[in-house]
Amino acid sequence: MSSEKSVPAFPGLLEEMTLDEVRAFNPEVVVVPLGSTEPHGPHLPYGTDTFQVTRLCRLAVERANRDGARALLYPTLSITNNANFRAFPFALRIGVRTLMSVLTDIASQCWHDGVRKLVYVNGHGGNPAALDAALREMAAQDDMPFACWTWGIPPEDYTDPFEHFSDHAGEKETSQMLWIRPELVRTDKLTDNPFGELRVSSLQKVSFVRPWHLYVPASAGGETRKATAAKGETFITGYAEGLSRLLLELSQAEYNDRFPYT
Ligand SMILES: [Zn+2]
Repeated sequence: MSSEKSVPAFPGLLEEMTLDEVRAFNPEVVVVPLGSTEPHGPHLPYGTDTFQVTRLCRLAVERANRDGARALLYPTLSITNNANFRAFPFALRIGVRTLMSVLTDIASQCWHDGVRKLVYVNGHGGNPAALDAALREMAAQDDMPFACWTWGIPPEDYTDPFEHFSDHAGEKETSQMLWIRPELVRTDKLTDNPFGELRVSSLQKVSFVRPWHLYVPASAGGETRKATAAKGETFITGYAEGLSRLLLELSQAEYNDRFPYT
């Protein structure tokens, strides 16, 4: 029998902590990652967004807590909004209103458990509208923590390492997966996946919901063959560094009814 003490990977990882440990930890900030389960072309798995945002948050919370923060990391929400993805099979989704309710219910639970600062970290492009709207809803309610959302925060000296633009399953996401879960990247399927062309070019200047099967017919867009694990590491560790700073500052800032102002 092993005499090794069983302890969480790092303090603040709620899923691996016990009741006594959580009480002793007495969190100041809660971190809620939002992932997604949806197709990512011929080369990346459905869980790509979830894997990415989970790694980003683990790095950020681990670092912030090592520096003195008391940030508590929740499990990643893996089914979020994919309304524009429904022409593809098993793009798992809940509606905008449902997602807003999930986000506000989580905030309400945080308040009940004595936490006054809440950070949603989003890893999926279908979620910003629900996140923004949920924050507005919370602002209209009493007994809600201060809440904000982010994709992660690049540090001041950060330079983006990617050469080819894509907002879905391109060089950026492929690079991240090559760093996080290389065994899940089908490297023999890397190619330049086409984007759909707009019939009305001025639509580039307005906001609309793009039917994803028309915008990225392969469920991936852009050149992926320049993806490397090193680029993925630069991106995730960079964004985690800025996020860890936010968590440390939030954790150390005293809460009162004027928060976040002095
Ligand atoms: Zn993605």
